[in-house]
Amino acid sequence: MGERRWPISLWYLLAGLFVVVLLYSYGLYEAPQEISYSQFKALLNAGKVTDLVLTPDEVQGRLTDLEVDNILSSEQVSHFKRWGQRELRFRAVRVEDPKLVEVLEAKGIPFAGRTASTWLMNIVSWVLSVALFIGIWLFVLRRLSGSAGGPGGLMAVGRSRAKVYVESETKVTFADVAGIDEAKEELREIVEFLKTPERFRRLGGKIPKGVLLVGAPGTGKTLLARAVAGEAKVPFFSISGSEFVELFVGVGAARVRDLFEQAKQKAPCIVFIDELDALGKSRAINPLGTHDEREQTLNQLLVEMDGFDPNVGVIIMAATNRPEILDPALLRAGRFDRHVVLDRPDVRGREAILRVHTRSVKLGPDVDLQVVAQRTPGFVGADLANVVNEAALLAARRNREYVTMQDFDDAVDRIIAGLERKTRVMSPREKRIVAYHEAGHAVVASLLPNVDPVRKISIIPRGIGALGYTQQLPTEDRYLMTRSELENRLAVLLGGRVAEEMVFGDVSTGAQDDLQKATDIALAMVSRYGMSEALGLRTFESDRRPLFLESPMASRRDYSEAKAAAIDSEVERILKSAHQRVRELLQAHRRELEAVADWLLEKEVLDGDQLRALLQQYGVQREQREPREQRTAAGS
Ligand code: ADP
Ligand code: MG
Ligand code: ZN
Repeated sequence: MGERRWPISLWYLLAGLFVVVLLYSYGLYEAPQEISYSQFKALLNAGKVTDLVLTPDEVQGRLTDLEVDNILSSEQVSHFKRWGQRELRFRAVRVEDPKLVEVLEAKGIPFAGRTASTWLMNIVSWVLSVALFIGIWLFVLRRLSGSAGGPGGLMAVGRSRAKVYVESETKVTFADVAGIDEAKEELREIVEFLKTPERFRRLGGKIPKGVLLVGAPGTGKTLLARAVAGEAKVPFFSISGSEFVELFVGVGAARVRDLFEQAKQKAPCIVFIDELDALGKSRAINPLGTHDEREQTLNQLLVEMDGFDPNVGVIIMAATNRPEILDPALLRAGRFDRHVVLDRPDVRGREAILRVHTRSVKLGPDVDLQVVAQRTPGFVGADLANVVNEAALLAARRNREYVTMQDFDDAVDRIIAGLERKTRVMSPREKRIVAYHEAGHAVVASLLPNVDPVRKISIIPRGIGALGYTQQLPTEDRYLMTRSELENRLAVLLGGRVAEEMVFGDVSTGAQDDLQKATDIALAMVSRYGMSEALGLRTFESDRRPLFLESPMASRRDYSEAKAAAIDSEVERILKSAHQRVRELLQAHRRELEAVADWLLEKEVLDGDQLRALLQQYGVQREQREPREQRTAAGS
């Protein structure tokens, strides 16, 4: 295509012209010797000047000869001698001198005028404006063609900008990804499929079309997607959702079509859409500013995903850190229905990531990566890569042969300072509080009967909302719960708060969510389930709001002020007695509480079996064990 070549040669032309102009102006302006105005006047009076050219700011002319004793410095004289063949040209900057012309006329010296802007200036400004114009034109052209280096031009408007990586370029394998073993495990199946699609096809296995990687920024989503391609040794087409957003209407959709066209030809392969949220934001979230382009692109993506058979061997992967804002249409069956979650790494995961990134770094004998990992709770893979890089830079700046622990310590401090501004890192004190809080939940849950067993406790911060969590099993739907079960559930919820009170003599805001849930349970016991002796069997619903019929006025409560006060005090009583009960329980098992908290501080996560083993060392048993079957029977 012609267009592409001629703008490039045009640039050469412009550059050449520029050089010529520069040389010319250099040659023109360097040649005349600069002299002062007083020198000029002295030379004029001595009758040594001729051929004057006057501009508003300077005087140019020639000396008739160099017999000008003492007016010029020896330096100036030697300059004139050097440029002798140039007829002794000089110039002087003008000062206010209205009589000059009179003097010149009186002496009969020829002179001419010239305007301030010389022909040279004209050319320069002309060239500059043409260059500017051409620059803008090229910019627009490039935006249209959308390809920085490849073949393109106006004809290739819809050509995909997605880069094709082949294995020899990515060179990323699962060995480069650490600390997110569960996600890796889940993707192994995809790798197997891409390696030998025929085998899967023969067996009629169903392979997901779309895999959505979900995780906080820097947890390694992009890295993992590339590693899948690397492991399977298949081409990797990647494109970023945010790239589509800035395009002209219609171009994005054309790109998507083109991308899939190319991918089908290269199958088996992976199409990776990074930052899917930029493209697939729920249409409901932004009802006013309808972004036509984004919507068209999104629709095209959906069409393409629906329209091809996964058996051709194209796997579509996408990454997002905000799955909750994605358009539900994207998550429907047959689209991105397989979700792989990338958690923030725990202490062992962080150590593994540090090992990956220090493979090519010279470490001193005192470096203990386990200690570095312990110092970096909440760090994601990208942060840890940053730590290693920073430590290496510090060591280099300190002229060391290898990276020492001191460098790592300083690097961690530096990066924590950066992250703290983004409120992503807990201080050691906060970490202790969270550890005891979660230990409180876990110990209470282990002691009481008829409580769902603890599955996992973690104090790895996940975003701003939850600093830690205690997860209980099962989450099966329960249709019936007895009063004692509800009371036990209350106790577990209060366990975190009570542990804080006991250990720190102070409480934090971390229990807010627990208290909210506890209050809800207590209120339900009183007002809905008739579980309070004081208020009897009557139900008191203030929020029974029929779905369609009535105005908000209709949902007024159906009981008196006095009853409302009684409900309040009854809820309070239930919470108080639960609190008292938990306090006694935890005081009696303080050693266990400490043991669990210590473990959490060290390892950050604790699974159910580890918890039970730990508690068994202290001879802890549930208060009265009831067979599980009995409860299940009650629930069915
Ligand atoms: P995301 O796409 O989730 O924001 P990236 O994949 O871009 O994160 O990660 C950025 C960099 O951080 C990677 O190139 C890698 O060097 C490092 N990194 C992130 N997660 C990991 C991990 N699990 N193992 C090793 N390195 C990681
Ligand atoms: Mg990424
Ligand atoms: Zn809690």
